[in-house]
Amino acid sequence: MALTRRFQRLPRLGIAVGLTAIIGAGAVALQNGRKLGYDDTPFLPGGKWRVHDGARPQPRIIDPGTSSTPDTPGRPPSDAVVLFDGKDLSHWTTEGNAPPRWKVEQGYMEIARPGGTLVSKEEFGDCQLHLEFATPNPPVGVDQGRGNSGVLLMGRYEVQILDSYENQTYPDGQCAALYAQYPPLVNASRKPGEWQTYDIIFTAPRFDGDQLVSPAYQTIFHNGVLVHNHTALIGAMTHRALAKYTPHPPKGPLALQDHGNPIRFRNIWVRELKGYDEP
Ligand code: MG
Repeated sequence: MALTRRFQRLPRLGIAVGLTAIIGAGAVALQNGRKLGYDDTPFLPGGKWRVHDGARPQPRIIDPGTSSTPDTPGRPPSDAVVLFDGKDLSHWTTEGNAPPRWKVEQGYMEIARPGGTLVSKEEFGDCQLHLEFATPNPPVGVDQGRGNSGVLLMGRYEVQILDSYENQTYPDGQCAALYAQYPPLVNASRKPGEWQTYDIIFTAPRFDGDQLVSPAYQTIFHNGVLVHNHTALIGAMTHRALAKYTPHPPKGPLALQDHGNPIRFRNIWVRELKGYDEP
C-alpha cells in the first residue's frame, strides 16, 4: 500500500523506488545475468545464509510423479527408491533370508500360505514412505482377525494395517494405529477390497551408546487424511506390553507383516530424507 501511494505521488521517482524494492541495492548477480536475492540482509540462524540469499543452493529438481486412483497406482517421484512396482519381489526377502513366497499378480502382491513377513533388502533411517494396501473382500473374521497386517519401519515400529471398516477392535490396534501406543486421530478406512494409501514421514530414533537421545517420530496420512502429527513413539512395537527402545543401527529394513490374512499391496516407494542441499 505504501509503495502504491509513493508511485501515485512521485510517478518518475516511484519507478526507481519500486525497482529498488523488487531487485534491491544489495542484489546478487547469478544465473544468466539475472539478479537473485540479496547480500545485504540479516543472517538467518546458523550464520550461513542471509534472508533471501541468492547464492544459497537451489533445491534439486525432481519429477513429482502422479497420484494413484482407485483403479491405477500412481507414478513414484523420480528420486524414490521403488520397492514394489507391481511386477516382482526382487527388493524383498523373508525373515531368515528365505526367498519371498507371496503371490504377485495383476500389479499387486498378496500374502500367501505359506508366506512369512516380507523384509526389504534396502535399509532406511529417516524417510518418506508411500504404500497402498487392500484388505480382503469379502471380509473374513472379526476384531484383530480381520485383514491384519502391518508395516514396520526399521523392522520395529509398526503402523497397523487392519480392516477397520465396520470392525471395532481396541483403538491402539485398529488400522493406522501406532500399534499398542496411539490410535489414529480419525478412522479414515475404506471398504474391504478398496485400495488405501499410507503416506508416512518417519524420523528414526537417535541413540548415544545405550542411551536414547531422541525418540522416533511418525507423521502419517491415511487415504490422504492426517492421522498422526509428528507423534513421538514410546518404543518399538509390542503386544500386551509397554513399548520401550532398544538401541539399534541408524538404518533398518521395511517389513510387511504376515498376520495370516491375505492382504494385497501395490506401489511401495521410499524417499530417504535429508537436507535440501545435502548430496
Ligand atoms: Mg498387525
